[in-house]
Amino acid sequence: MAKTNLTKHLLLLAATTSIVALLVGFTPSDVEETTINIEVPLQLIATDGEVANQTIQNNLSNSIQSTTTGIPTPAGLVKHAPAFTTQQATVKTGDSLSKILSLHGISNQDIYRVSSSDKKSKELTRMRPGQTLEFVKDKNTDELISLKLIKSQLETIVYEKSDGKFTSNKVVREPEIVKVYKEATISNSLFLDGLKAGISQSMLIEMANIFGWDIDFALDLRTGDTFSLLFEEKYLDGQSIGFGNILAAQFVNNGRVYQAIRYKTSKGSHYYTPDGLSMRKTFLRTPVDFTRISSKFNPNRLHPIFKTTRPHRGVDYAASKGTPVKASGDGKVIFKGRQNGYGNVVILDHGRGYTTLYAHLNGFSRKIKRGGRVKQGQTIAFVGQTGYATGPHLHYEFRINGTHKNPVTVKLPNDEPMAKKDLKKYLPYAQTMASALESYHSPNYMQKLASLKK
Ligand SMILES: [Zn+2]
Repeated sequence: MAKTNLTKHLLLLAATTSIVALLVGFTPSDVEETTINIEVPLQLIATDGEVANQTIQNNLSNSIQSTTTGIPTPAGLVKHAPAFTTQQATVKTGDSLSKILSLHGISNQDIYRVSSSDKKSKELTRMRPGQTLEFVKDKNTDELISLKLIKSQLETIVYEKSDGKFTSNKVVREPEIVKVYKEATISNSLFLDGLKAGISQSMLIEMANIFGWDIDFALDLRTGDTFSLLFEEKYLDGQSIGFGNILAAQFVNNGRVYQAIRYKTSKGSHYYTPDGLSMRKTFLRTPVDFTRISSKFNPNRLHPIFKTTRPHRGVDYAASKGTPVKASGDGKVIFKGRQNGYGNVVILDHGRGYTTLYAHLNGFSRKIKRGGRVKQGQTIAFVGQTGYATGPHLHYEFRINGTHKNPVTVKLPNDEPMAKKDLKKYLPYAQTMASALESYHSPNYMQKLASLKK
């Protein structure tokens, strides 16, 4: 009985510590006396469902004792059973494989051997601070038996020695993706109330980016605004290891309902309205990070310098001198230079009748030239006070077919619509996602939506 137990437990240990390769290959005639000194976290043994953990520990120590007192060792198992030790090191800045291993007593020869097995993939030379090296070595000889580079919870590279050579193996784990629903009502701020509802800061930023084309999160939020999200959370062994994408989201701002659904086409993954319009707009609402609006769009304004009624056909964004001014949309530079009251000015033509104008600039970006193309968000110039200006600000005009529109309120066109063949597949998907989101809404949330529809 003791014999079978020992065999069983040795095999169990061998399996749990992946040292099975070292224990096989001996013929019964090799077996003499055995001292077993295996450093294994005992909870590993508990994987045997048949026997309780405590029993195993007792049995094991009994068995080991009995082998040292001369009871024959099971056939075919061990000679000079090596004592193994498993050690871990966290990679720090400036560390290298040889530095870490030699610090733990591994020979240059073994370091060389394991490095040469890594020549192609270069995983070990590219290891980064914060990653973990775990290695098993012979406790008596310091011989390196195996090495693991734990790159992340999901990716480990395993190097194992056989016939004096190391071979590597990449082990990739797939997290379980769980869909999570959260909703929140704003009473303090997006972040305070969002975090309180259990939504991470990065998730809130992502949501603000999705709806940022329609809602100015710095100015437009109202107490009582509500939002709901359906997003991915990644789990590994029952533990959350992070978040994935927002799949669907709804934001109720100042009585208006916005909805976005993530969808992948050949152009990549983007967010769309339930009708298939891009959430992204052809134009940025504001082409500069401003401190305040110093003068509104006003066709009947009294001019601050001339004290006469002069229409203000744009909006003035106060910002410090040198603040980058961005192209509000993709387009062509049709003017770059000086114009009387405007001072330094850039005019962009965006096609389809849209033009934008940027005035009182301190200077221009070196990358733009008349007739050249610019991308949405690209820095074209810098805030200044040239022309008739009482302080540094950007004067911004938005024209459609030559008519001035209020840049703050003009309805901005959506980005390129989805291709027809994509739209056909998207629409039923969007409907499914929208109803999924709706099915999670709390009674309060539903009441709020119902009151808006009245
Ligand atoms: Zn102005």
